Formats: sequence, structure tokens, C-alpha cells
Amino acid sequence: MYLIILGPPGAGKGTQAVRIAEKLKIKHLSTGEILRKAVAEETELGLKAKEIMNKGELVSDEIMIGIIKNELSSPEVKSGFILDGFPRTLEQAKGLDGILNELGYSDLKIIDILVPDDEIIKRLLGRGRSDDTIETIKNRLEIYKKQTLPVKEYYLRERMVYDIIGIGSVDEITDIILKKISV
Ligand code: AMP
Repeated sequence: MYLIILGPPGAGKGTQAVRIAEKLKIKHLSTGEILRKAVAEETELGLKAKEIMNKGELVSDEIMIGIIKNELSSPEVKSGFILDGFPRTLEQAKGLDGILNELGYSDLKIIDILVPDDEIIKRLLGRGRSDDTIETIKNRLEIYKKQTLPVKEYYLRERMVYDIIGIGSVDEITDIILKKISV
């Protein structure tokens, strides 16, 4: 199964993506994790991404599309993948379409986790990641609305999009997602 998980920062995308990947035995691809690893290893990519991530801004589409193209070209993802944190802009969504066409992947399903703003701010402040300050959180939410919401509209036109209410226990939400996407 080929999946994308969308949702604002703090929606629980990462947590759910890991669980779904385990359950369905598919590869979990988190662009945030790939970038954090690059920052920790001080690679060329990491050095470029560090400042941008600390401000809650987005790494360039060109870099991100390159990363995803590289990941999806691996034979490891043939049996299935779940993209977490990508695409975050319309440009990335269009780039992804090109990559998927080229590699012969179709039948993509989109999961969108919906969580209200006040709940998100509460959760992110409690998470304690170095890029989770109140300023950065507000910036990420604003960027999410401006840049990532259009991605959902784009997918609504031609793909299966499953809305999931992201409030409840982690287990409950995983169950709801698995039920919805298996129909
Ligand atoms: P995440 O773990 O998905 O919250 O990502 C952490 C940070 O990595 C984001 O705030 C962005 O700075 C950067 N990032 C992750 N994925 C992307 C993406 N698809 N496009 C641009 N920047 C990204």
C-alpha cells in the first residue's frame, strides 16, 4: 500500500505513521527524521537545513523533492511506503506525482489527521523538541495553513483522501486509520 499522512505539526502524524508502517509492513519515510539525522551528522544537507528547521521554516522544494526521489528509488519501498512530512507544498506534491509516474507507482491513498490549533499548541509545547518554541510553533502552523493546506485540496481532486479526527488515544486513532484505508 502506498500512503501519505498529512496533518498539522503535532497532529500525531509521526506516531501514527510508525504504527501503520509496522502493521502493514511498509516503509516509513519521514522527511523530518531524514533532515534531523543530516543535522546530527553535520552533512552538507544538515548544515543547510539546520537554521531553517530551527526557525520552523521549510527546506527548499528542490532539496526535498531530491531527497524523496532518492528514497523512493530504493527497491525497499516497492512493497509499500508511508510518507510522513512530505509533501508540504503544492510544488512538492507535483514533484511527487512526477516521481510516482516515472517509477510506476499508482493507487496512492492520503490520510489527513485533523486537530484544532489550541490542541496542537498544547501538545507541541509539551513535546520539548528543540524546534518546539512558541514562536516556532506559531510559524509552523501559519506555514502549514498557507503552504500545506493547498496540498490537500490538490489531492481531493484526484486521489482518495481519508479524514481522521486526531483526538483520542493513540490506539484508537491507529484503528480508525487502518479501518478506513482498508476499504
Ligand atoms: P517534521 O518532523 O515533519 O515536523 O519536520 C521538521 C522540520 O523539517 C520542519 O519544520 C521543516 O523545517 C523541515 N521539513 C520536514 N519535511 C519537510 C518538507 N517536506 N519540506 C520542507 N521542509 C521540511
